[in-house]
Amino acid sequence: MDMQNRVGSKFGGGGVMSEGQAARDRKERLRQLALEHCDLSKDPYFMRNHLGTYECKLCLTLHTTEGSYLAHTQAKKHQMGLLRRAKEEELLKQREMPVATKKQTGVMAKKVKIGRPGYGVTKGVDSNGAKCLTFSISYPEITPGIVPRYRFMSSYEQRVEAPDPKYQYLLFAAEPYETVAFKIPNEPIDKDEGRFVTNWRDGKFNLTLFFAKKAEEEGKGE
Ligand SMILES: [Zn+2]
Repeated sequence: MDMQNRVGSKFGGGGVMSEGQAARDRKERLRQLALEHCDLSKDPYFMRNHLGTYECKLCLTLHTTEGSYLAHTQAKKHQMGLLRRAKEEELLKQREMPVATKKQTGVMAKKVKIGRPGYGVTKGVDSNGAKCLTFSISYPEITPGIVPRYRFMSSYEQRVEAPDPKYQYLLFAAEPYETVAFKIPNEPIDKDEGRFVTNWRDGKFNLTLFFAKKAEEEGKGE
């Protein structure tokens, strides 16, 4: 279908108003709509100066009326400015984000996050010399009904740091908190009973793991 002709015929089909009149009316309607729908007091770039005129703080332009400011916000210069600003803010956000949660943003960007949970890590060694780690993650404001999840990720699976086969990652996730990851040695984990324990109680998720390789065996061939 030729869209251009279809739109054109619809436009010309009126026949009652002159084209100039129609255009003026349409412009006025749009201006009114814009005024109704956009609260200038919430526009961070809109500023009324001491001369009683208006300024766009983004583009540093001067406007005599609110209407002309509004028209300006629809113009290419302002739109491009907004786009540039959004990109800058996105970059800043990415830089501030902790390494571990960067990967998550693609999947969870639409959900509201309330930040990283508090956590504690304790290291230990059992009587046989096996190294042990205990992670305690605090989720006091977890979404009701949600149980925190964990999973291991290889250094090749993650896309945040350069892969280092000496390490693997242990991730903890619970809405609405950001996912956190811990970089741990890439040694086999002891999955025997009582050697890998998780519990979820009083807003705290605890995970204790033992490495299968004993500390005293380090340095020997495998
Ligand atoms: Zn502007």
